[in-house]
Amino acid sequence: MAFSRIILNPKKERSLKLYHPWVFSGAVGKAEGNPAEGEIVEVFTHDEQYLATGHFHNGSIKVRIFSFEQTDAAESFWIKKLEAAFEFRKTIGLVDNKHTNAYRLIHGEGDGLPGVIIDIYDTVAVIQTHTLGMHRVKTFLASGLKKIYGERLETIYDKSSDTMAKQGAAAVTNDFIFGSLQEKIVRENDLKFMVNWVEGQKTGFFLDQRENRELLGKYSNGKKVLNTFSYSGGFSMYALKGGAQSVHSIDSSKKAAALAEQNAALNGYSEKHTFILSDAFDYLKHTQEKYDLIILDPPAFAKHLSAVDNAMVGYRNLNTEGIKNIEPGGILFTFSCSQVIDRGLFRKLVFQAAAQAKRNVRIIHQLSQGPDHPISIYHPEGEYLKGLVLLVD
Ligand code: SAH
Repeated sequence: MAFSRIILNPKKERSLKLYHPWVFSGAVGKAEGNPAEGEIVEVFTHDEQYLATGHFHNGSIKVRIFSFEQTDAAESFWIKKLEAAFEFRKTIGLVDNKHTNAYRLIHGEGDGLPGVIIDIYDTVAVIQTHTLGMHRVKTFLASGLKKIYGERLETIYDKSSDTMAKQGAAAVTNDFIFGSLQEKIVRENDLKFMVNWVEGQKTGFFLDQRENRELLGKYSNGKKVLNTFSYSGGFSMYALKGGAQSVHSIDSSKKAAALAEQNAALNGYSEKHTFILSDAFDYLKHTQEKYDLIILDPPAFAKHLSAVDNAMVGYRNLNTEGIKNIEPGGILFTFSCSQVIDRGLFRKLVFQAAAQAKRNVRIIHQLSQGPDHPISIYHPEGEYLKGLVLLVD
Protein backbone atom coordinates (compact mmCIF):
# COMPACT_ATOMS: atom_id res chain seq x y z
CA MET A 1 0.00 0.00 0.00
CA ALA A 2 1.35 3.42 -0.91
CA PHE A 3 1.26 5.92 1.90
CA SER A 4 1.50 9.69 1.57
CA ARG A 5 5.04 10.94 2.07
CA ILE A 6 6.41 13.58 4.41
CA ILE A 7 9.72 15.00 3.26
CA LEU A 8 11.76 16.66 6.00
CA ASN A 9 13.78 19.83 5.60
CA PRO A 10 17.55 19.33 5.32
CA LYS A 11 19.27 18.49 8.64
CA LYS A 12 15.97 17.74 10.39
CA GLU A 13 16.35 13.94 10.47
CA ARG A 14 18.56 13.77 13.57
CA SER A 15 15.85 13.22 16.16
CA LEU A 16 14.21 10.48 14.08
CA LYS A 17 17.57 8.79 13.62
CA LEU A 18 17.71 8.82 17.43
CA TYR A 19 14.27 7.15 17.53
CA HIS A 20 12.42 10.12 18.96
CA PRO A 21 8.81 9.41 17.98
CA TRP A 22 7.59 12.95 17.21
CA VAL A 23 8.05 15.03 14.05
CA PHE A 24 7.46 18.70 14.76
CA SER A 25 5.93 21.03 12.16
CA GLY A 26 9.16 23.01 11.75
CA ALA A 27 10.95 19.89 10.50
CA VAL A 28 8.47 19.20 7.71
CA GLY A 29 9.52 20.42 4.24
CA LYS A 30 6.59 19.11 2.23
CA ALA A 31 3.68 16.76 2.63
CA GLU A 32 3.16 14.88 -0.63
CA GLY A 33 -0.33 13.59 -1.37
CA ASN A 34 -1.97 16.12 0.98
CA PRO A 35 -2.40 13.70 3.92
CA ALA A 36 -5.53 14.06 6.03
CA GLU A 37 -5.73 14.19 9.84
CA GLY A 38 -5.04 10.70 11.24
CA GLU A 39 -3.70 9.24 7.99
CA ILE A 40 -0.68 6.90 7.98
CA VAL A 41 2.36 8.54 6.36
CA GLU A 42 5.98 7.62 5.68
CA VAL A 43 8.69 10.12 6.61
CA PHE A 44 11.77 10.68 4.45
CA THR A 45 14.92 12.78 4.63
CA HIS A 46 15.20 15.70 2.20
CA ASP A 47 17.16 13.36 -0.10
CA GLU A 48 14.44 10.74 0.08
CA GLN A 49 15.83 8.13 2.46
CA TYR A 50 13.11 6.38 4.43
CA LEU A 51 13.12 7.20 8.15
CA ALA A 52 9.89 6.10 9.80
CA THR A 53 6.12 5.49 9.57
CA GLY A 54 3.49 7.18 11.70
CA HIS A 55 0.17 8.98 12.00
CA PHE A 56 -0.19 12.44 10.51
CA HIS A 57 -1.86 15.23 12.48
CA ASN A 58 -2.46 18.93 12.09
CA GLY A 59 -0.77 20.47 15.08
CA SER A 60 2.68 21.25 16.37
CA ILE A 61 3.46 17.51 16.34
CA LYS A 62 2.88 16.61 12.69
CA VAL A 63 3.69 12.90 12.80
CA ARG A 64 3.67 10.43 15.68
CA ILE A 65 5.92 7.53 14.75
CA PHE A 66 4.92 3.94 15.43
CA SER A 67 7.56 2.19 13.30
CA PHE A 68 11.13 2.88 12.30
CA GLU A 69 10.95 0.12 9.67
CA GLN A 70 8.75 0.18 6.59
CA THR A 71 5.46 -1.57 7.32
CA ASP A 72 2.06 -2.01 5.72
CA ALA A 73 0.53 -1.30 9.17
CA ALA A 74 -1.99 -4.10 8.59
CA GLU A 75 -3.80 -5.84 11.46
CA SER A 76 -0.90 -8.22 12.22
CA PHE A 77 1.44 -5.25 12.79
CA TRP A 78 -0.75 -3.91 15.63
CA ILE A 79 -1.32 -7.34 17.11
CA LYS A 80 2.45 -7.90 17.29
CA LYS A 81 2.89 -4.61 19.15
CA LEU A 82 0.32 -5.71 21.73
CA GLU A 83 1.92 -9.13 22.07
CA ALA A 84 5.31 -7.53 22.72
CA ALA A 85 3.79 -5.28 25.38
CA PHE A 86 2.10 -8.30 26.98
CA GLU A 87 5.40 -10.23 27.08
CA PHE A 88 6.99 -7.28 28.87
CA ARG A 89 4.19 -7.23 31.49
CA LYS A 90 4.89 -10.94 32.01
CA THR A 91 8.56 -10.10 32.56
CA ILE A 92 7.69 -7.63 35.31
CA GLY A 93 5.39 -10.14 36.96
CA LEU A 94 2.03 -8.51 36.34
CA VAL A 95 0.45 -11.32 34.31
CA ASP A 96 -1.25 -14.20 36.19
CA ASN A 97 -0.31 -12.51 39.44
CA LYS A 98 -2.39 -13.72 42.43
CA HIS A 99 -2.10 -10.40 44.26
CA THR A 100 -2.59 -7.87 41.46
CA ASN A 101 -4.81 -8.18 38.40
CA ALA A 102 -4.89 -4.57 37.14
CA TYR A 103 -2.08 -3.06 35.07
CA ARG A 104 -1.30 -0.88 32.09
CA LEU A 105 -0.75 -2.96 28.96
CA ILE A 106 0.00 -0.10 26.56
CA HIS A 107 1.63 3.14 27.63
CA GLY A 108 1.79 5.21 24.44
CA GLU A 109 5.32 6.02 23.32
CA GLY A 110 6.72 3.77 26.07
CA ASP A 111 5.28 0.81 24.15
CA GLY A 112 5.96 2.18 20.69
CA LEU A 113 2.35 3.24 20.20
CA PRO A 114 2.07 7.04 20.51
CA GLY A 115 -1.49 8.21 21.06
CA VAL A 116 -2.99 5.24 22.87
CA ILE A 117 -3.11 3.69 26.31
CA ILE A 118 -4.74 0.40 27.29
CA ASP A 119 -5.45 -0.49 30.91
CA ILE A 120 -6.36 -4.02 31.99
CA TYR A 121 -8.82 -4.52 34.85
CA ASP A 122 -8.78 -8.29 35.32
CA THR A 123 -11.12 -9.42 32.51
CA VAL A 124 -11.67 -5.95 31.03
CA ALA A 125 -9.56 -3.76 28.74
CA VAL A 126 -10.10 -0.01 28.56
CA ILE A 127 -8.66 1.71 25.48
CA GLN A 128 -8.06 5.46 25.49
CA THR A 129 -6.84 7.10 22.29
CA HIS A 130 -5.35 10.58 22.13
CA THR A 131 -5.14 10.87 18.34
CA LEU A 132 -7.45 10.23 15.43
CA GLY A 133 -4.85 7.97 13.85
CA MET A 134 -4.92 5.62 16.85
CA HIS A 135 -8.68 5.86 17.19
CA ARG A 136 -8.95 4.48 13.65
CA VAL A 137 -6.92 1.37 14.50
CA LYS A 138 -8.88 0.54 17.64
CA THR A 139 -10.55 -2.46 16.00
CA PHE A 140 -7.09 -3.91 15.25
CA LEU A 141 -6.09 -3.23 18.86
CA ALA A 142 -9.27 -5.01 19.96
CA SER A 143 -8.32 -8.02 17.77
CA GLY A 144 -4.94 -8.08 19.48
CA LEU A 145 -6.55 -8.04 22.92
CA LYS A 146 -8.86 -10.91 21.97
CA LYS A 147 -5.93 -12.91 20.64
CA ILE A 148 -3.86 -12.35 23.79
CA TYR A 149 -6.52 -12.84 26.45
CA GLY A 150 -8.88 -15.20 24.60
CA GLU A 151 -11.94 -16.38 26.50
CA ARG A 152 -10.88 -14.54 29.65
CA LEU A 153 -11.67 -11.18 28.09
CA GLU A 154 -15.21 -10.08 29.00
CA THR A 155 -15.30 -6.46 27.86
CA ILE A 156 -13.37 -3.91 25.78
CA TYR A 157 -14.40 -0.30 26.42
CA ASP A 158 -13.31 2.69 24.37
CA LYS A 159 -12.98 5.66 26.77
CA SER A 160 -11.73 8.28 24.31
CA SER A 161 -14.35 11.02 24.14
CA ASP A 162 -12.56 13.45 26.51
CA THR A 163 -9.09 12.93 25.11
CA MET A 164 -10.30 13.06 21.50
CA ALA A 165 -12.34 16.23 22.14
CA LYS A 166 -9.07 17.88 23.19
CA GLN A 167 -7.76 16.98 19.72
CA GLY A 168 -10.77 18.61 18.07
CA ALA A 169 -12.57 15.31 17.40
CA ALA A 170 -15.73 16.19 19.31
CA ALA A 171 -17.80 13.49 17.63
CA VAL A 172 -16.07 10.56 19.34
CA THR A 173 -18.24 8.95 22.02
CA ASN A 174 -17.30 6.46 24.70
CA ASP A 175 -18.48 3.02 23.71
CA PHE A 176 -18.25 -0.71 24.28
CA ILE A 177 -16.23 -2.39 21.52
CA PHE A 178 -17.00 -5.79 23.00
CA GLY A 179 -19.05 -6.97 26.00
CA SER A 180 -20.93 -4.65 28.35
CA LEU A 181 -19.39 -4.83 31.85
CA GLN A 182 -19.36 -1.36 33.44
CA GLU A 183 -17.47 -1.96 36.66
CA LYS A 184 -15.46 -4.62 38.37
CA ILE A 185 -13.68 -5.22 41.67
CA VAL A 186 -9.96 -5.58 40.93
CA ARG A 187 -7.08 -6.62 43.17
CA GLU A 188 -3.95 -4.58 43.74
CA ASN A 189 -1.43 -6.02 46.19
CA ASP A 190 -4.33 -7.95 47.76
CA LEU A 191 -6.42 -4.83 48.31
CA LYS A 192 -9.80 -4.65 46.59
CA PHE A 193 -10.80 -1.68 44.47
CA MET A 194 -14.05 -1.07 42.65
CA VAL A 195 -13.18 0.32 39.23
CA ASN A 196 -15.88 1.87 37.07
CA TRP A 197 -14.47 2.84 33.67
CA VAL A 198 -17.79 4.30 32.47
CA GLU A 199 -18.32 6.73 35.37
CA GLY A 200 -14.80 7.04 36.77
CA GLN A 201 -11.99 9.44 35.94
CA LYS A 202 -9.54 8.61 33.13
CA THR A 203 -9.77 4.85 32.47
CA GLY A 204 -11.21 4.31 35.96
CA PHE A 205 -8.18 3.93 38.24
CA PHE A 206 -4.71 5.44 38.67
CA LEU A 207 -2.48 2.46 38.07
CA ASP A 208 0.72 4.51 37.87
CA GLN A 209 0.88 4.91 41.66
CA ARG A 210 0.83 1.18 42.52
CA GLU A 211 4.46 0.95 43.69
CA ASN A 212 4.28 4.30 45.50
CA ARG A 213 1.13 3.28 47.33
CA GLU A 214 2.87 0.07 48.40
CA LEU A 215 5.80 2.08 49.78
CA LEU A 216 3.39 4.32 51.68
CA GLY A 217 1.93 1.27 53.39
CA LYS A 218 5.32 0.62 54.99
CA TYR A 219 5.33 4.05 56.65
CA SER A 220 1.76 3.92 57.94
CA ASN A 221 1.76 1.76 61.06
CA GLY A 222 0.10 3.61 63.93
CA LYS A 223 0.01 6.87 61.95
CA LYS A 224 -2.64 9.54 61.58
CA VAL A 225 -2.83 9.93 57.78
CA LEU A 226 -4.23 12.59 55.45
CA ASN A 227 -4.66 11.61 51.79
CA THR A 228 -5.42 14.68 49.69
CA PHE A 229 -6.68 14.39 46.08
CA SER A 230 -7.61 10.88 47.13
CA TYR A 231 -9.87 9.89 44.21
CA SER A 232 -11.05 6.33 45.00
CA GLY A 233 -8.84 6.10 48.09
CA GLY A 234 -5.86 4.26 46.60
CA PHE A 235 -3.26 5.57 49.03
CA SER A 236 -5.81 5.48 51.87
CA MET A 237 -6.39 1.73 51.57
CA TYR A 238 -2.65 0.99 51.61
CA ALA A 239 -2.23 3.19 54.69
CA LEU A 240 -4.99 1.26 56.45
CA LYS A 241 -3.53 -2.09 55.38
CA GLY A 242 -0.22 -0.87 56.76
CA GLY A 243 -1.80 -0.30 60.19
CA ALA A 244 -2.69 3.40 60.15
CA GLN A 245 -4.54 4.60 63.25
CA SER A 246 -6.88 6.73 61.10
CA VAL A 247 -7.08 8.01 57.53
CA HIS A 248 -8.78 11.13 56.21
CA SER A 249 -9.33 11.12 52.43
CA ILE A 250 -10.04 14.45 50.74
CA ASP A 251 -11.32 15.02 47.23
CA SER A 252 -13.58 17.65 45.68
CA SER A 253 -15.47 15.10 43.58
CA LYS A 254 -18.67 13.45 44.86
CA LYS A 255 -18.08 10.41 42.69
CA ALA A 256 -14.64 10.02 44.26
CA ALA A 257 -16.33 10.17 47.68
CA ALA A 258 -18.66 7.31 46.82
CA LEU A 259 -15.81 5.22 45.41
CA ALA A 260 -13.46 5.84 48.34
CA GLU A 261 -16.18 4.89 50.82
CA GLN A 262 -17.09 1.82 48.83
CA ASN A 263 -13.44 0.74 48.72
CA ALA A 264 -13.02 1.27 52.47
CA ALA A 265 -16.07 -0.97 53.03
CA LEU A 266 -14.82 -3.61 50.57
CA ASN A 267 -11.57 -3.93 52.50
CA GLY A 268 -13.17 -3.79 55.96
CA TYR A 269 -11.66 -0.41 56.89
CA SER A 270 -14.74 1.83 57.13
CA GLU A 271 -14.29 2.46 60.86
CA LYS A 272 -10.86 4.00 60.54
CA HIS A 273 -11.57 5.85 57.30
CA THR A 274 -13.25 9.25 56.93
CA PHE A 275 -13.95 10.93 53.62
CA ILE A 276 -14.04 14.74 53.57
CA LEU A 277 -15.60 16.36 50.49
CA SER A 278 -13.57 19.53 50.12
CA ASP A 279 -11.14 21.53 48.10
CA ALA A 280 -7.75 20.25 49.23
CA PHE A 281 -6.14 23.72 49.36
CA ASP A 282 -8.99 25.05 51.56
CA TYR A 283 -8.80 22.11 53.89
CA LEU A 284 -5.03 22.31 54.34
CA LYS A 285 -5.20 26.06 54.94
CA HIS A 286 -7.97 25.99 57.51
CA THR A 287 -7.76 22.70 59.37
CA GLN A 288 -6.52 22.68 62.96
CA GLU A 289 -5.50 19.03 62.64
CA LYS A 290 -1.92 17.90 62.34
CA TYR A 291 -0.95 14.62 60.69
CA ASP A 292 1.94 12.13 60.90
CA LEU A 293 1.72 11.30 57.20
CA ILE A 294 0.29 13.37 54.35
CA ILE A 295 -0.11 12.52 50.65
CA LEU A 296 -0.34 15.30 48.05
CA ASP A 297 -1.27 13.84 44.65
CA PRO A 298 -2.98 16.64 42.71
CA PRO A 299 -4.12 16.44 39.08
CA ALA A 300 -1.72 17.96 36.52
CA PHE A 301 -1.67 21.69 37.28
CA ALA A 302 0.08 22.40 33.96
CA LYS A 303 -0.98 20.55 30.83
CA HIS A 304 0.91 22.92 28.52
CA LEU A 305 4.11 24.92 28.66
CA SER A 306 2.05 28.13 28.63
CA ALA A 307 0.56 27.18 32.02
CA VAL A 308 3.84 26.44 33.77
CA ASP A 309 4.05 29.73 35.70
CA ASN A 310 0.65 29.32 37.34
CA ALA A 311 1.32 25.67 37.99
CA MET A 312 4.56 26.50 39.76
CA VAL A 313 2.68 28.75 42.18
CA GLY A 314 0.13 25.97 42.70
CA TYR A 315 2.70 23.30 43.53
CA ARG A 316 4.69 25.64 45.78
CA ASN A 317 1.64 26.71 47.80
CA LEU A 318 0.21 23.23 48.05
CA ASN A 319 3.48 21.83 49.36
CA THR A 320 3.91 24.71 51.80
CA GLU A 321 0.48 23.97 53.29
CA GLY A 322 1.17 20.24 53.31
CA ILE A 323 4.49 20.64 55.13
CA LYS A 324 2.94 22.99 57.70
CA ASN A 325 0.34 20.38 58.64
CA ILE A 326 2.86 17.65 59.42
CA GLU A 327 3.80 16.78 62.98
CA PRO A 328 7.55 17.05 63.63
CA GLY A 329 9.18 13.79 62.52
CA GLY A 330 6.30 13.12 60.12
CA ILE A 331 6.38 12.18 56.46
CA LEU A 332 5.11 13.78 53.27
CA PHE A 333 4.51 11.91 50.00
CA THR A 334 4.29 14.63 47.36
CA PHE A 335 3.70 14.18 43.62
CA SER A 336 3.42 16.02 40.34
CA CYS A 337 2.04 14.37 37.21
CA SER A 338 2.50 17.44 34.98
CA GLN A 339 4.75 16.35 32.15
CA VAL A 340 5.94 19.94 31.60
CA ILE A 341 7.19 20.30 35.20
CA ASP A 342 10.34 18.21 35.13
CA ARG A 343 11.92 16.43 38.07
CA GLY A 344 14.45 19.20 38.71
CA LEU A 345 11.85 21.94 38.70
CA PHE A 346 9.50 19.96 40.94
CA ARG A 347 12.26 19.45 43.50
CA LYS A 348 13.06 23.16 43.40
CA LEU A 349 9.42 24.05 44.07
CA VAL A 350 9.31 21.67 47.02
CA PHE A 351 12.54 23.22 48.29
CA GLN A 352 10.92 26.66 48.14
CA ALA A 353 7.84 25.30 49.91
CA ALA A 354 10.01 23.86 52.70
CA ALA A 355 11.73 27.21 53.13
CA GLN A 356 8.38 29.03 53.20
CA ALA A 357 7.09 26.63 55.85
CA LYS A 358 10.35 27.08 57.80
CA ARG A 359 10.79 23.36 58.50
CA ASN A 360 13.78 21.05 58.24
CA VAL A 361 13.02 18.75 55.34
CA ARG A 362 15.01 15.75 54.08
CA ILE A 363 14.40 13.67 50.94
CA ILE A 364 14.19 9.97 51.72
CA HIS A 365 12.83 8.56 48.43
CA GLN A 366 12.53 9.83 44.86
CA LEU A 367 9.64 8.20 43.05
CA SER A 368 8.38 7.72 39.53
CA GLN A 369 5.62 5.90 37.65
CA GLY A 370 5.34 2.11 37.87
CA PRO A 371 7.17 -0.23 35.46
CA ASP A 372 4.02 -0.89 33.45
CA HIS A 373 4.34 2.80 32.42
CA PRO A 374 7.76 2.47 30.75
CA ILE A 375 9.69 5.47 29.51
CA SER A 376 11.44 5.10 26.16
CA ILE A 377 15.02 6.27 26.60
CA TYR A 378 14.58 8.12 23.31
CA HIS A 379 11.46 9.91 24.56
CA PRO A 380 12.22 11.52 27.92
CA GLU A 381 8.88 13.37 27.71
CA GLY A 382 7.32 10.03 28.71
CA GLU A 383 8.50 10.52 32.29
CA TYR A 384 5.55 12.40 33.74
CA LEU A 385 5.07 11.23 37.34
CA LYS A 386 7.54 12.56 39.89
CA GLY A 387 7.36 12.01 43.61
CA LEU A 388 9.36 12.88 46.69
CA VAL A 389 9.06 11.31 50.09
CA LEU A 390 10.14 13.82 52.71
CA LEU A 391 10.97 13.56 56.37
CA VAL A 392 9.70 16.76 57.95
CA ASP A 393 11.14 17.83 61.31
N1 SAH B 1 -4.13 9.69 44.37
C1 SAH B 1 -5.18 9.17 43.55
C2 SAH B 1 -5.30 9.86 42.20
C3 SAH B 1 -5.52 11.35 42.27
S1 SAH B 1 -6.19 12.02 40.82
C4 SAH B 1 -5.01 7.66 43.41
O1 SAH B 1 -3.95 7.11 43.81
O2 SAH B 1 -5.88 7.01 42.86
C5 SAH B 1 -6.54 13.63 41.29
C6 SAH B 1 -7.82 13.82 42.11
O3 SAH B 1 -7.85 15.19 42.54
C7 SAH B 1 -9.13 13.60 41.39
O4 SAH B 1 -9.87 12.62 42.07
C8 SAH B 1 -9.87 14.96 41.45
O5 SAH B 1 -11.26 14.82 41.69
C9 SAH B 1 -9.22 15.60 42.63
N2 SAH B 1 -9.19 17.08 42.67
C10 SAH B 1 -8.95 17.94 41.67
N3 SAH B 1 -8.88 19.21 42.13
C11 SAH B 1 -9.10 19.14 43.47
C12 SAH B 1 -9.11 20.10 44.53
N4 SAH B 1 -8.91 21.40 44.29
N5 SAH B 1 -9.32 19.67 45.79
C13 SAH B 1 -9.52 18.35 46.06
N6 SAH B 1 -9.50 17.40 45.11
C14 SAH B 1 -9.30 17.79 43.83
